[in-house]
Amino acid sequence: MTVDVKPTLDIGQLVEPPPIARVGVIGGGQMGNGITHVCALAGLPVVLLDVKAEALTKAMATMARNMERQVNRSIISSDDRDAALARVTTSTDYEAFGEADLVIEAATEKEDVKRAIFSTLTPRLKPSCLIASNTSSISITRLGAATDRPEKFIGMHFMNPVPVMKLVEIIRGIATDEPTFLAVQALARKLGKIVAVAEDFPAFIVNRILVPMINEAVYALYEGVGSVSGIDTSMRLGANHPMGPLELADFIGLDTCLSIMQVLYDGLSDSKYRPCPLLVKYVEAGWLGRKTGRGFYDYSQTPPRPTR
Ligand code: NAD
Repeated sequence: MTVDVKPTLDIGQLVEPPPIARVGVIGGGQMGNGITHVCALAGLPVVLLDVKAEALTKAMATMARNMERQVNRSIISSDDRDAALARVTTSTDYEAFGEADLVIEAATEKEDVKRAIFSTLTPRLKPSCLIASNTSSISITRLGAATDRPEKFIGMHFMNPVPVMKLVEIIRGIATDEPTFLAVQALARKLGKIVAVAEDFPAFIVNRILVPMINEAVYALYEGVGSVSGIDTSMRLGANHPMGPLELADFIGLDTCLSIMQVLYDGLSDSKYRPCPLLVKYVEAGWLGRKTGRGFYDYSQTPPRPTR
């Protein structure tokens, strides 16, 4: 007698992730150019878009410089570099995303900016195109709901600098479907990254822990517990951190740090996340860190000079 035994049902085998062959990136700042860099090196044609044409020129120059550094360290060959740079096109026009299978949004960390981007973006996309946001803190469920495709919307949170840092946090919104998750997870692995899955709570895992520590370092400075170099040296040598918290804040961007604290404060309604008034003041002054030449350090000097 032959018994017909059906194989155990494996949900994973039933869900075919959509292939990602062409990528779009929105925002040519430090994160957008890093994401473009790793996608192009992994063999994917990339369209990079910014509102500012000069941001695109700067992004291309930064990418070429960073790839040159990788060539000098024998991480990639000069042929790899040339082929990767040739895969990148830039545009200020959303029509350029018509063929994209995935668009990764890496524009300024402001919810109204991102919402406005999605309303311009979605009518230009093919129906199957996935959208990922590189937001550091904003609700993926809420951002996804602002699009015409919440089931194809996901958080893909790269770390800075993207070509160097191994981690990508992947965050599903409540409506994100399994093929979208599997496709983005497969892409992250193709880019040589390690994936951590985070739930959709304010600031996810890394920034939920990291940015309140940075905010506390700014409070320590504000209250006169230590100077900029006192605080950074203490955390480098006393806690074995590779960078001090204020140096790291300048590297991330003080506007981004403040936005993340505001999202934590508003989203969790807990006074322990109150942004330090000194951080607010620095941002109001336009002292945003390395990207503007001044933050807790003044980068017009070599080595950078602490400002307090
Ligand atoms: P950035 O200030 O370096 O770059 C932002 C870019 O977005 C600028 O080039 C700006 O011109 C562009 N932009 C602004 N409005 C736009 C619009 N309407 N359309 C298209 N482009 C627009 O900022 P960043 O550090 O690259 O951060 C970008 C995103 O990545 C943010 O969501 C941030 O939270 C996230 N992120 C940042 C870090 C970090 O360490 N800086 C790490 C992980 C994630």
